[in-house]
Amino acid sequence: MRKKIVAGNWKMNNDSAQTEALLEEILSKKRDNATAKIVVAPSFVNLQAAVKQTAGTNIIVAAQNMHQAESGAYTGEVSVGMLKSIKVNTVILGHSERRAYFGETNSVLAEKVNTALRNNLTVIFCFGEELADRQSATHFDVVESQLREGLFHISATDWDSIVLAYEPVWAIGTGETASPEQAQEMHSFIRTLIKNNISETIAENTSILYGGSVKPDNAAEIFSKPDVDGGLIGGASLKADEFLAIVNSMV
Ligand code: PEP
Repeated sequence: MRKKIVAGNWKMNNDSAQTEALLEEILSKKRDNATAKIVVAPSFVNLQAAVKQTAGTNIIVAAQNMHQAESGAYTGEVSVGMLKSIKVNTVILGHSERRAYFGETNSVLAEKVNTALRNNLTVIFCFGEELADRQSATHFDVVESQLREGLFHISATDWDSIVLAYEPVWAIGTGETASPEQAQEMHSFIRTLIKNNISETIAENTSILYGGSVKPDNAAEIFSKPDVDGGLIGGASLKADEFLAIVNSMV
């Protein structure tokens, strides 16, 4: 059975004190019986403290990125072993900002996915088309290539460690949300793609999150779509009340 998940990507926001305060507020206000699993992704420097602060709770702490090499001369980078050593077992890979600003191609992402899976991490794999792709009606092709080139090479058992996050780039941080119908259309396309290329069971069991300007006032409708299993939340994850309202929109 696929899981319902709401993940907050805090990006390059929140210093140490702000990270602690936001987590404290989330921990004190979250409902114990929420349907969705909660994931938060603070910056690298605040991960260790976040793991300690959430120990014994059901909040999962994820990294926003990692390097594809296990170790070596990669100044400024963070390895999978470093994440594991501080008990971070989930990583977001392929976020559109990593693709756009840091040159992460589908083939680099395939390497990162391999390294993460080899080390038993769960991967939240992000992908999605740009505005020009949608305008030229190539959005299904773009998404298919991102998945084929970045992910579809993995083994059947490794799919247990994959969460997909469809994030149309034109909807990220813009206030422009894909309509629930557009989200459902793409999620259904993705599930069919997995069914036809991997297996029907894996297609049914893989969680597909939607990301792109999800807010408390649109979350319930987006999450009500049958192929939408949760959300990856940017801006609205930085305020505990908004984030938890989104978490609680998942029924
Ligand atoms: C994101 O960055 O993954 C995202 C979905 O951002 P926002 O919710 O701010 O659009």
